[in-house]
Amino acid sequence: MDTDMVRDWNNKIPLPVKRILRRLDKAGFEAYIVGGCVRDMILGRTPHDWDITTDATPDQILAVFKGNQCFEVGKEHGTITVMMNGEPFEVTTYRIDGTYSDNRRPDSVEFTNNLIQDLQRRDFTMNAMAYRPEDGVGLVDPYNGTESLSSGVISCVGKPNNRFAEDGLRILRALRFAAQLGFAIEKDTADSVHKKKYLLDKISKERINAELTKILMSGHCGVPVLREYSDVIAQVIPEIGATIGFEQHNPYHEYDVWEHTLHSLDAVPHDADLYVRLAVLLHDVGKPIAFTMDGERGHFYGHPVISGELTHKILTNLKCSNEVITNVTQLVTFHDVVFTPTKASVKRLLNKLGAEQLRRLFIIRECDIKGQTSFAQKDRLDKVKEMREILDWIIEQEECFQLKDLAINGKDLLAIGIPEGKEIGRILNMCLAYVIDGTVDNTKENLMEIVQTTIIPLSKQTTINTKEG
Ligand code: ATP
Ligand code: MG
Repeated sequence: MDTDMVRDWNNKIPLPVKRILRRLDKAGFEAYIVGGCVRDMILGRTPHDWDITTDATPDQILAVFKGNQCFEVGKEHGTITVMMNGEPFEVTTYRIDGTYSDNRRPDSVEFTNNLIQDLQRRDFTMNAMAYRPEDGVGLVDPYNGTESLSSGVISCVGKPNNRFAEDGLRILRALRFAAQLGFAIEKDTADSVHKKKYLLDKISKERINAELTKILMSGHCGVPVLREYSDVIAQVIPEIGATIGFEQHNPYHEYDVWEHTLHSLDAVPHDADLYVRLAVLLHDVGKPIAFTMDGERGHFYGHPVISGELTHKILTNLKCSNEVITNVTQLVTFHDVVFTPTKASVKRLLNKLGAEQLRRLFIIRECDIKGQTSFAQKDRLDKVKEMREILDWIIEQEECFQLKDLAINGKDLLAIGIPEGKEIGRILNMCLAYVIDGTVDNTKENLMEIVQTTIIPLSKQTTINTKEG
């Protein structure tokens, strides 16, 4: 490393991290930053966490930082979390992992005072580097991680089959790094990813979910990786397996269901949130179940509802939060709803979904259209644009589309003698429907009039009819 590079790197390391390294060094221990933060620093990316590795044992770490707040939850595995300048940092003793009998985690760990042995237990060569700012040691890179970074190729440390057998999650981590960094996976490692994918069955859903989320949040939703390793994705979401190669026999679709999904994902804007990305990933997952053939033509009647049900099941199984499950399921269920660019129609959708979800639905529709044949694509995209403009107008004008925007409320109805209970809600909803349709303006005077002259007489009529019937 030349001196400019050393200076540049040392400037990038945050002050509290340097303080931890210095404190351990002064106490006579070795200490390095290690793993992802070194990788990201070399790539010129900003690391989001800084891990420190040391030959000090957990008790020695605690003694060195006895003046700081420390957490001992990971102590058994060698990790002490040290609070420095109000931030937590994981300081871990050099470690050798014991045998892995469950393909998830080592049966035991052994501490060592040899940094190279610690680097050996790490998953990929680019994640097996350590660095320390002081003295002349600089970068420790025994497995040629820098070469992996400069060539853009991910390789396991050691034999891929063995490394994946130790911890199956590494298979998905390889895909995740490939997606985040736009890297390829080295041939032996890639072969092993395909061959050993069944090991993912033993991994906790939470850990799988975290990696899948990172893949989807990568540039282009990780599409090149999802395409090349679709078998691995189908291993963790079996419902997707049925869409791979599923021909649609439909003039709107030149691609099979999965390839259409990938083209749609590729069209997702870079600032789209996870809900949009998950909804695009899963929007057609029910198509194989809904498929019928009418002569030469394929149909998928009712597929949004089936896809919605499967989405609910898939996301629940992946232990997503209730918020993610509810919102994504709703988006998938509504993804094919008819778009009519009128104020009334947009208001009805707003009423059902709310503005935030409707904006997401517009993005999803655009991605869906872009993943289809170019036939009438522009017209269909223009319609979405028009819908969006109407939505903006409704919000800007503070137009009424929900009960709370209505110029009357339950109290107004109680005041004219309507008894408390369901009837109040029914009348208010009818008023809202009239306002949304444009039949009546949203003023108290107009609404009370329509309640007295139309809604109440109509509801009496209905009650009499029902009684007589
Ligand atoms: P990120 O940018 O998401 O933080 P990372 O590589 O830093 O990526 P971490 O989970 O923070 O991932 O792990 C820190 C380091 O610990 C890794 O760089 C790697 O050296 C090692 N590591 C993490 N998970 C594993 C694993 N499953 N098997 C082997 N080594 C791992
Ligand atoms: Mg990290």
